[in-house]
This record gives sequence, C-alpha cells and structure tokens, in this order.
Amino acid sequence: MVAKVIDGKVIAADLRARVAVDAARIKREHGVTPGLAAVLVGSDPASQVYVRSKVKQTEAAGMASFEHLLPVNASQAELLAVVEKLNRDPLVHGILVQLPLPAGLDPQAIVAAIDPAKDVDGLSPVNAGRIANGLPALTPCTPLGCIILAKTVHASLEGMNAIIIGRSNLVGRPLVQLLLNENATVTIAHSRTRDLASMCARADLVLAAVGKPEMVKANWIKPGATVIDVGINRIALADGKTRLVGDVAYNEVLEVAGAVTPVPGGVGQMTVACLLVNTLRAACAIHALGQPAV
Ligand code: NDP
Repeated sequence: MVAKVIDGKVIAADLRARVAVDAARIKREHGVTPGLAAVLVGSDPASQVYVRSKVKQTEAAGMASFEHLLPVNASQAELLAVVEKLNRDPLVHGILVQLPLPAGLDPQAIVAAIDPAKDVDGLSPVNAGRIANGLPALTPCTPLGCIILAKTVHASLEGMNAIIIGRSNLVGRPLVQLLLNENATVTIAHSRTRDLASMCARADLVLAAVGKPEMVKANWIKPGATVIDVGINRIALADGKTRLVGDVAYNEVLEVAGAVTPVPGGVGQMTVACLLVNTLRAACAIHALGQPAV
C-alpha cells in the first residue's frame, strides 16, 4: 500500500482563498480591513524570505500589510516601542515579530509585550495559558496547520493515539493542547524519551517536530498511520547542492503509512495560511464581529 500524500500546497491555497472571501465580506459589511504588521529586526536572509512571503500572501488575501524593518543593532527599548505603537494602531489587528531575534534582544519579553488580542503567532503567555486551559485563543500557526492537515484525513481525531516528537514552545507544546481539544490521546516525546521507535509504532497519528533530517523511519510507523512532518532541514548533497527534507524518511514511510505530508509542500505551506486565519479572527474579535467563517 502506498500512503496518500497530504497536499499542503492545495489545502493551504484553499484556506487562503476562504480567508480572502471572508476578509472581503467583513470589508463590505463592516468597513474593516484586517491588517497584519510584520516586524523584522536585522537582515537574516531566511527571515527576510519568510517576512516577504507573509506580506505577499496577506496582500493577496485582500488584507492590509504593514512592514517594520529595524537595524540589526536595534535595542530592546526601540523594539518594544514599535510593538507598543502597533498595539495602539487601530488599523493593525495582527502583530508578528519575526523570530529568531538578533543576539542581545529578549524574545520572550518582546512576545509578552504584544497585545494578546493581536498576538497572531499565538506565542504570548496569555494565549499559551488560554490554550492550556482549553479556552478560545489565538493559536500558534504551525500546530494549527498540523491539525487542519490531520483533519483532511480523519473527520475526527477523537480517541486516536497521537505521538508528538518534540516539545518546543513553538510546535510540540501547543500541539499537545490542540490535540487534547480534539479528544486525541496524546504522548509527547523528546530527546530523553526511551524507546521512541516502539512508542511511535503504537500511534495512529505521528507528528514529528524535531529538526533531525529523516529521523523517523518506516519501521517506526504503524501500517496505515497518518504522519505529519513539521521538520524543515537543509541537507548537503554530494554534488554540492542542497535539498530540503523533513524529520521523516519520506520515501520509505510512504510505503507503510496511510497518509503522509511531504517536505516541502506539507506543513510549511500551512503556517502562513494559518497566520492569515489568525489575523482575520483577531480582526473579527477586536471589532466584535463574531467568529469568521474560516
Ligand atoms: P526545537 O529545536 O525548538 O525543538 C526540537 C525538539 O525535538 C526538542 O523538544 C528536542 O527535545 C526534540 N529532540 C531533539 N532530538 C531528539 C531526538 N533524537 N529524539 C527525540 N526528540 C528529540 O525545534 P522546533 O520545534 O522549533 O522545530 C522543529 C522542526 O520543525 C525544525 O526542523 C524546524 O525547522 C521545523 N519547523 C517548521 C515549521 C514549519 O512552518 N513547517 C515551523 C517551525 C518549525 P528536548 O526538548 O529534550 O531538547
């Protein structure tokens, strides 16, 4: 049996299109244009690419986009001042500060300074706490994308045995809460977990967020399981070129799993689409317009 490939590109495009329809409706009916502000400190090339893609996709969805570029030597106080200005700006409904920040800046203090109502990355302590308490919250984009992808395969995740490999604040920890909200039974594994392969082999749903190229092998996977690969790893090839791979040995897992996400073209596509979803949700909440359709 060859696994179904979960096409993140198509699913993300559909999600972005639905965000665009609802953003247009809100504009038409309420005169509100959802607005996303991206703050980039320094000129890290990967961060520049991410921010550019976020700006482009925000505009393509008919939403307003604001970019704030600060020099690499910007101080904590300067960055905080930008965040505070955006907190007060009525045209801005979502604020994202592109991470990682240059050395010397404290990312936790910056993220905590973002108004929780505008925290579209869902990383502030208020949103993390609300998620942990099972309350409505702005949810981190990559974990939200993973849930949406898993639900394209399973109408309900209820009762499924899910294992998350990785316990970062960005991915693994919020995923636990989102899966619990879906009534899955959740195991979270990390670098100190013993006998990871056999724990994985019991799971109906495997979510790998480790940052280790192709670590999850076919013999770790229960036949028919759904595998969501969050990892993005650039590996060097013999000819001097590089290639992106996930945390899952894709070609061999394809032969065993029931469904699997590719890298690229899987979870990565969903992250920005979910940022747009969160911006729309934030705009609706701030203007008391009720839940958007997306
Ligand atoms: P972190 O480095 O913050 O966390 C990695 C986690 O993996 C840690 O909890 C660590 O355990 C665990 N780990 C490391 N080695 C092992 C091992 N041998 N066995 C089991 N667990 C292990 O990474 P992130 O969560 O930020 O990112 C993970 C991956 O996802 C990366 O490849 C990243 O590029 C990618 N990513 C992709 C996104 C997307 O949009 N698709 C968005 C965000 C991340 P411990 O806590 O014990 O150290």
